[in-house]
Amino acid sequence: MRAVVIGTGPAGITAAETLRHLDPSGSVVALSVEPFPPYSPPAMADHFLTGREAPLYWKGRDVGPRLGIDERRGVRVGAIDTDNCEVVLDDAERIPYEGLVVASGSRLHAPLEGADRPGVLDFKSLRTATELIGRVRRGEVTTALIVGNGLIGIELSLLLADLGVDVTVIGRRTWVMPRVLDPVTSTVAEAALVARGVNLRLGVQVDAIIGEPSATGIRLADGTHLDADMVVAATGVKPHTEFLDGSGIVTGWGVHVDQGLGTSVHGIVAAGDVAEAADRFTGKRFVHAIFPNAVAQAPIAAANLLGADLRYDGADTMNSLKHLGVPIVSIGTIDGPDEILRWQENGVLRAVYLRDDTMIGAQLAGDIRGAGVYRSLMLRRLPVGRYGHRLVEPGFGLADITLDALGHRQHSLSVV
Ligand SMILES: Cc1cc2nc3c(=O)[nH]c(=O)nc-3n(C[C@H](O)[C@H](O)[C@H](O)COP(=O)(O)OP(=O)(O)OC[C@H]3O[C@@H](n4cnc5c(N)ncnc54)[C@H](O)[C@@H]3O)c2cc1C
Repeated sequence: MRAVVIGTGPAGITAAETLRHLDPSGSVVALSVEPFPPYSPPAMADHFLTGREAPLYWKGRDVGPRLGIDERRGVRVGAIDTDNCEVVLDDAERIPYEGLVVASGSRLHAPLEGADRPGVLDFKSLRTATELIGRVRRGEVTTALIVGNGLIGIELSLLLADLGVDVTVIGRRTWVMPRVLDPVTSTVAEAALVARGVNLRLGVQVDAIIGEPSATGIRLADGTHLDADMVVAATGVKPHTEFLDGSGIVTGWGVHVDQGLGTSVHGIVAAGDVAEAADRFTGKRFVHAIFPNAVAQAPIAAANLLGADLRYDGADTMNSLKHLGVPIVSIGTIDGPDEILRWQENGVLRAVYLRDDTMIGAQLAGDIRGAGVYRSLMLRRLPVGRYGHRLVEPGFGLADITLDALGHRQHSLSVV
């Protein structure tokens, strides 16, 4: 097959690799708008701090030539002509395909007045991150404001603090990483951030990014102005779908995909941050923009493009924070529980979220042992009420579940 992959992020390069592997006689063209070899965004902070390249260029800088993938950098896809099966580049070049993988990932989403002002930086891609860190390295930045207290804003704040910048994170919600952590678990993250020298201003509404001709600060809803050498938008991400307009590929927030990761157009699949796939726990369509989902979806999408009939189990909601110095893991959702069980002692915190006698979410901080057991209970939707508060206490694990299962078996045997 003549396959084209749009994007060489974790999803795109994994799809290209799979296509190459499963179809050695076919051709694979992989396109990226960025000028870099395929890279892993979660490794960017470490790369800028330590200079290490291997985790960043996780497939090797030479992955294209080594695997026989025609990996093309600095090319932007402007449209897909699905009638003629051609990818149209911004410079009007047309690349024909027999099978197409859309793995264009996500970009900064900053619905905020002044966010398009010159000088507003972000840490979403290696290109923008390189520009941002370049300013720091050139000594142009003593103070920085990060608008947004999600995962990317928090990761960047730690990096900037480590690079000696006086950095302040500003968040609308009153706790950090509100989409991932509950307010109690986030206190552990907040303590770690403050200890690392990050300033937090939470529960504050930013009205606009201000400055002429380029950004010099922000205006808060109460009229206060905050100034800094650098203003960073970390307000969220949005799937890169603009170039799909007019292609017939159905999109919502992201590209709608079926269980096999096929789009609404035959011969076109999607994977990674761009794909709006079913959530593994709730079954609802959602964009879970995390690395493990991207690399789990890509091989399935690629194999199905070649005619396989694989089913994707659904996107996981599991986040772990690597650079905080304190282990924290969040699994599933914190939305709409019937009951929350908590255990907390000496900086170790565990919480499980229950609905209809099953687990819908878990949060662990300080000691993340047992996360796998919780995930497994959630995936199997096993009833957990029988464990009572023990479920959330340290030491709860496979042994409890196994003993319990054995107990049930003995009981049913005696009844028989
Ligand atoms: C700073 C940071 C830290 C993160 N930390 C974590 C973490 O700790 N754990 C975790 O699970 N996830 C983390 N993530 C999220 C994770 O990086 C993403 O989920 C993952 O990169 C998604 O991979 P992807 O291939 O779908 O998209 P992307 O990585 O966004 O790659 C998209 C690709 O498409 C290309 N592209 C886009 N539009 C076009 C176009 N029009 N034409 C040509 N090429 C195009 C881009 O150049 C790029 O190659 C982090 C992200 C960032 C930014």
